[in-house]
Amino acid sequence: MIRDKFPDLLSISGPQDYATVMNAVHSAVPYQHDPFVDLLPAKRRSASAQAAQEVGVKLTPKHYAYLKISEGCNHKCSFCIIPSMRGKLASRSVVDVLAEAEKLDKAGVKELLVISQDTSAYGSDLKYAGGSWRGHEYRTSMLDLCRGLGQLGVWVRLHYVYPYPHVDEIIPLMAQGLVLPYLDIPFQHGSPSVLKRMKRPAFAENTLERIKTWRKICPELVIRSTFIVGFPGETEAEFQELLDWLKEAKLDRVGCFQYSPVDGATANDLADPVPDDIKAERYERFMKTQAKISKARLKKMVGRTLDVLVDEIDEDGVLSGRSYADAPEIDGRVYLSCDFPLKPGQMVRAKVLESNEHDLHAEAIEE
Ligand code: SF4
Repeated sequence: MIRDKFPDLLSISGPQDYATVMNAVHSAVPYQHDPFVDLLPAKRRSASAQAAQEVGVKLTPKHYAYLKISEGCNHKCSFCIIPSMRGKLASRSVVDVLAEAEKLDKAGVKELLVISQDTSAYGSDLKYAGGSWRGHEYRTSMLDLCRGLGQLGVWVRLHYVYPYPHVDEIIPLMAQGLVLPYLDIPFQHGSPSVLKRMKRPAFAENTLERIKTWRKICPELVIRSTFIVGFPGETEAEFQELLDWLKEAKLDRVGCFQYSPVDGATANDLADPVPDDIKAERYERFMKTQAKISKARLKKMVGRTLDVLVDEIDEDGVLSGRSYADAPEIDGRVYLSCDFPLKPGQMVRAKVLESNEHDLHAEAIEE
């Protein structure tokens, strides 16, 4: 009857049935990944009912899970509209997050991917309020969260960290093996004047010095980042500063986007937009520079024996997984040769035999 009256109706659902509603919307208008807004990698966005209910919580294979610690952001980066869409930083209490992590651990999750819009700012809105978990006191702060998560004995990977001075406190926890020696820091640019126009948090920090200090404390540290080329007003000299920064920083994993205006972003009002052909040309130069760096960094892994978390066996029987240096979906893989049975979700020691620009090839070792 309803359909007769409203022939264009997409779907009929019960009250509060958010998943069915989102499913119907996404089947009519498929979700478009936006690298400037989304926390999760494109492939992990799904139109399924499950996904609509659980975005940001658990959309992944059984052995890893995203752990969202806060929503919103107090910064005002000029290319971003997240604060106007999602509001100011709202952190979950540390006890709440640790309890969820504990549940995921009990359910068999081997790797927790900590996500937020600004992980370094975690808890500042709650004035770092404390709470008790497993008989110990923890503050709602990045440091105490890492200390708590480190008790679970699963891989803990930190995403969306900004290079503030207090991040220095996390590096010793990495050296001790409490959290993975892996930092995902969206640097976005290497030129101070561009970073200033972008209104990036910590734009005045000497990030190259900070990276050097971190690597001294924890030589295993792997850093991944994303960058924007062709931001309004970016001159050739500023772009060259970015390339020089990149060559000195020698980051392990890097993604790059050509700037594109987002509706409502203040950067749209900036003067001197960079023409598309120059953006594309800078993107190519950037990627070429980074490819050499990535290749050299991965080559250093050859001969090492690493823990590898097996992700999948494809239809041709090819086994692949990741080491501490690779986040799912966004980084490389470790392809495994193996003469004993392995299945997804299993952790295995493997000796690295070869490397290329993105991936490693390793031989699994039976223990
Ligand atoms: S830190 Fe900047 S880019 Fe990140 S969510 Fe906040 S405003 Fe957006």
